[in-house]
Amino acid sequence: MSKICELLSQLASANRAIASENEAIENYQTKISMAEQELVTKTTKIEKQKDANKLKRREAQKLEGEISALDKKIGDATANQSQASNNDDYATWTKRIAEYKEKVAEIEDNVLEMLEICDQNESQQNELDQQIANLKQETTIKKEDYLSSIEAAKERKADLISRRDAIFSQLGGSFKSFYDRLYAKYGETTVVPIKKESCGGCYMKLTIDLIAQVRTSEDPITCKSCNRVLYTVPLK
Ligand SMILES: [Zn+2]
Repeated sequence: MSKICELLSQLASANRAIASENEAIENYQTKISMAEQELVTKTTKIEKQKDANKLKRREAQKLEGEISALDKKIGDATANQSQASNNDDYATWTKRIAEYKEKVAEIEDNVLEMLEICDQNESQQNELDQQIANLKQETTIKKEDYLSSIEAAKERKADLISRRDAIFSQLGGSFKSFYDRLYAKYGETTVVPIKKESCGGCYMKLTIDLIAQVRTSEDPITCKSCNRVLYTVPLK
């Protein structure tokens, strides 16, 4: 294997490793956003339940106010009843008191039912608040974990980039700018091995002459079809 083929092979493998670190970093970042999104979704859902419960509580309080008003009316009617000057008057107040009491009983049933629901919701709410607290803690731990994985991947990537820079400096200054232009087009597959006498990038069949050139040349040789830089892998 010629010196240049070996350098190009190292360059290709450094590129693959850098791409895989980039992918890992992206995956961890996605996981962080997903964990944050999940936290927001669950918190919002529970906050909505809390709001609905507050509303129900207020409705129950309003009905309790109506009961107090009716109780006052019953008090007044009872006073009037005791001062009734005749039987008809007395009967009228008795009837009215009965009506008020019936109304109170009806509202009370309603209020009791509502308060029971509120109590149930509120006890569930405490549980849900606990769930949120747990979820927040889990999310924080997960995020820290992902962030340290990202840091590790970034360190490995920085190491790979400096190794790749060392390869570039061995390949000569003009190669780097040529490579950069090609990289904008082909990315990871800028430098490809010859596979089955074909270009490992575009799969075009290569001439025997060109393959021989790749093996022996002291300069990088490119595919005539796609212009990618070619190298040969040693036969095992
Ligand atoms: Zn090609």
